[in-house]
Amino acid sequence: MQKLAFNDLQAQYRCLKDEIDAGIREVIEGAHFISGPQVEQLEQELCAYTGRKHCLAVSSGTDALLMPLMAYGIGPGDAVFVPAFTFVATAEVASLAGATPVFCDVCEDTFNLDPASLREQVERIEREGQLRPRMVIPVDLFGLPADYAAIEEICREHHLLLLEDAAQGFGGEFRGKKACSFGDVSATSFFPAKPLGCYGDGGAIFTDDEELYRTMASIRVHGKGSFKYDNVRVGLNARLDTLQAAILLPKLRAFDRENAVRRQAAAWYTEKLAGRFATPATPEGYASSWAQYTLRAKDHAERERLTAALKEAGVPTMVYYPKPLHRQEVYRSLAHQAESLPVSESLCERVFSLPMHGYLTEETVSAICGELCRAQEA
Ligand SMILES: *Cc1c(COP(=O)(O)O)cnc(C)c1O
Repeated sequence: MQKLAFNDLQAQYRCLKDEIDAGIREVIEGAHFISGPQVEQLEQELCAYTGRKHCLAVSSGTDALLMPLMAYGIGPGDAVFVPAFTFVATAEVASLAGATPVFCDVCEDTFNLDPASLREQVERIEREGQLRPRMVIPVDLFGLPADYAAIEEICREHHLLLLEDAAQGFGGEFRGKKACSFGDVSATSFFPAKPLGCYGDGGAIFTDDEELYRTMASIRVHGKGSFKYDNVRVGLNARLDTLQAAILLPKLRAFDRENAVRRQAAAWYTEKLAGRFATPATPEGYASSWAQYTLRAKDHAERERLTAALKEAGVPTMVYYPKPLHRQEVYRSLAHQAESLPVSESLCERVFSLPMHGYLTEETVSAICGELCRAQEA
């Protein structure tokens, strides 16, 4: 097979070239590189898409997660509950704010935060009495929204703030609500490989809370007050470049079409692989935006064998994630840590993701599944 792309950004560019090139040219000719009109236009269109009242376009997904913690004044002595099976940024922002991440386990079939484990960890931290439970950051991993019905209930019971990490979740849905609209505040990333990606780093924050929105808008520009040289709090330089906004506008307008192709591709994968492989679950009431299509091998040895055979055949695969966060060097010495999170640990040994993007064809999906089945039988 000809070498395939894991995420075919070139095919997307070929398709959207005229609009993207025109947008870039317009920004360069207008020379409004910081906070140009395209940024506000993008924020408005993102509000319309997600159904949120307020949106702030920012410099990265990580800053989009960090700024709500800064705005709420989360810091030393506070516990922030996060899944152990995610990208490090979800926990890192708690540490950056001076708070303590508390790791929770995930569900085997959806890869998302397990509400039972969350409840257990919150109650353990309350019992121990050393940290103050403040916030939960569920992740919409691989494009599938977390179980917000159960998680919102736990947050209400225990007076916890809820920050949705929708870095991979943009375009997902749960019970008719779009990703980036769950909890008190949501963060997404426009890193190029995400469902909605720009040509560099970028992100956005969403909330319905006007006061929180105003505080985060101030944090985005060095804690500004009435103007840039009036500084009322410690902030960041966390703006999204105008060029990135201009690139995102045509991509956002093409998003639903590409999302439909990703959903169709996922359905083809599942149809061709079900019964032979543990395929990802999309429970009733959910729609994923398929940031990744992720299988679970029986064990570590089988994963290594299958991914090596696919590589040989020209099919790229990725392992998201090879190590759970509570086992990472950076968090090894963390007190208040659960001893074992068995599902997260086991998934890191077994998962691998197949090529997924909005320009896949049934022919390509069939060829990939054919290679995978041959490798399994070998
Ligand atoms: C990518 C990602 C982030 C961070 O986004 P950046 O734009 O790379 O800073 C945070 N959380 C999750 C789950 C991610 O996948």
